Amino acid sequence: MSNNPLPGLHCAYCSSLIDDYTPVEDGTVPVEGDGMMCVYCGNLNIYCDEKTVRKLNKDELAEFAKDLLRTAKEKVAHGEYGTSWNRRHRPA
Ligand SMILES: [Zn+2]
Repeated sequence: MSNNPLPGLHCAYCSSLIDDYTPVEDGTVPVEGDGMMCVYCGNLNIYCDEKTVRKLNKDELAEFAKDLLRTAKEKVAHGEYGTSWNRRHRPA
């Protein structure tokens, strides 16, 4: 008997078996529409149900990229990346 909490799920990008997950919030389980980062290939999957994840569509990819950029800018503005990161990545 498997202890896999998500038996049968495979990454939509690299087909690796998703054999475990770490929720952002303790004690929660994935629900439809949640993002799941694959530890094998690093791509972001969208959880559909206990048997399916899918790739992000073009609009979701654009929104994800905007969120990452916004988060990085906020962290730079608050000095959270340290001075060496800021020197290399701060926009001119
Ligand atoms: Zn993968």
